[in-house]
Amino acid sequence: MLNDPRSHGLWERTAPPPPLTDKLVEDKVADVAIVGAGYTGLSTALHLAERGVEVAVLEAVEIGYGAAGRNAGLVNAGLWVMPSSLKEVLGPDYGERLLNLLTYSPRTVFEIIEKHHIQCELIKAGTIHCAASAAGVANIKERARQWQERGAPVRILDAEEVRSLTGTSAYAAGLLDLRAGTIQPLAYARGLGQAAISAGARVFTRSPVKEFGRDHGTWRLVTPDGSVRAKWVVLASDAYTAHIVPELRNEQVAVPIFQIATVPLSNNVRRSILPEGHGIWDTRTVPTGFRMDAAGRLIINSVGALRNTGRAIHRAWARRRFRTFYPQLGDVALEHEWYGWIGTTGDHLPRLHAPGENMIALAGFNGRGIAPGTVLGREIARHVAGELQLEDMFLPVSTPRNAPLRHAREAYYEIGAQVAHMPPL
Ligand SMILES: Cc1cc2nc3c(=O)[nH]c(=O)nc-3n(C[C@H](O)[C@H](O)[C@H](O)COP(=O)(O)OP(=O)(O)OC[C@H]3O[C@@H](n4cnc5c(N)ncnc54)[C@H](O)[C@@H]3O)c2cc1C
Repeated sequence: MLNDPRSHGLWERTAPPPPLTDKLVEDKVADVAIVGAGYTGLSTALHLAERGVEVAVLEAVEIGYGAAGRNAGLVNAGLWVMPSSLKEVLGPDYGERLLNLLTYSPRTVFEIIEKHHIQCELIKAGTIHCAASAAGVANIKERARQWQERGAPVRILDAEEVRSLTGTSAYAAGLLDLRAGTIQPLAYARGLGQAAISAGARVFTRSPVKEFGRDHGTWRLVTPDGSVRAKWVVLASDAYTAHIVPELRNEQVAVPIFQIATVPLSNNVRRSILPEGHGIWDTRTVPTGFRMDAAGRLIINSVGALRNTGRAIHRAWARRRFRTFYPQLGDVALEHEWYGWIGTTGDHLPRLHAPGENMIALAGFNGRGIAPGTVLGREIARHVAGELQLEDMFLPVSTPRNAPLRHAREAYYEIGAQVAHMPPL
């Protein structure tokens, strides 16, 4: 995308082509205008179009240009924080509603993929949260306890079980979550886009919304070559928010995450690493994650931006990590490297805003947006369609607040990741 191999890397190379879309030209009218063609915007569009609502999605670049086309593709349940945090932060009503929606959220993603025949390398084997220390073991045990209390199919694996499912003996224990799975994330975004279009939504790409305002009781969103008038506006631009409503971006601290993929592995080596197709990540402060793609490339991920000094430091770290975790890889060639930004909030929960009449915004997925973006996008569609009142939604409506010391914290994460990934002295 935009001739930048470090933006969408492997995913752009192996995703099926995007649906044909046009740039917005001239002045159009719709019931609902949606800004952003990631999971949130496209899920909202799909579920509105299925209800017969006229939808126009306006995307600045291409479908999946934001985090949807760059991420690690682990379709996990819940959010990044412990299940109990939702009720602690949001109170019993909102906490329980959000938790109810997200406890089996991967199922919604899988159903959409299957219903619309989306070719996105779906594997429903589950994911494993691996414990890298005694504190990590305590953390995953508590998570397991909380999910099991809700009847979720999760269980603790001992070191030997983790070794047999991951191929590495680096971990003392793991939390196997059978609700979860892995996908090719850009392929899912493109398939979701196609599903929305087939249901009747119009998706305009290369159409950044540069300004908007009220005009005769409707919203008017203006792009460089056209405009859309709509009764409702949904802002689904998350951490990649550009040009408009800077408050949505400014309330999030952007943390970079990179991924590096090997060439396809030989069948012998491939069988010894993540043999059942689990995606894994660990409990370290600067976590390490691994997954395989359909062609047998092993992909590693961690915190960091592949730019400036970060590029060489993180690449060398990835080589060392591959070698220590999976010595059978030898001096394997690396084929793709790319990185993107997750938007984090102070309490690690997303935010729902209503910045104007008939305008709603959802942002701040904190690195857990595939299933939440899909499910909460559907809930936004229900609200816009009049089926769900604002006060019955999954989050209280809040006013965006600038993240304190945002620039300093963003620099801290980028530089801190380099320090963490330096070779030991
Ligand atoms: C490297 C990485 C790894 C991740 N790993 C995982 C993972 O394994 N599992 C998981 O669940 N989540 C993961 N995430 C998080 C997940 O990708 C995001 O939470 C999710 O993509 C958010 O979806 P979204 O639709 O809200 O926003 P995005 O996918 O970011 O889409 C927003 C879109 O809005 C567009 N836009 C912005 N401004 C405008 C404008 N003015 N006009 C028109 N369009 C505009 C952008 O171009 C963009 O396409 C990861 C993220 C990254 C970056």
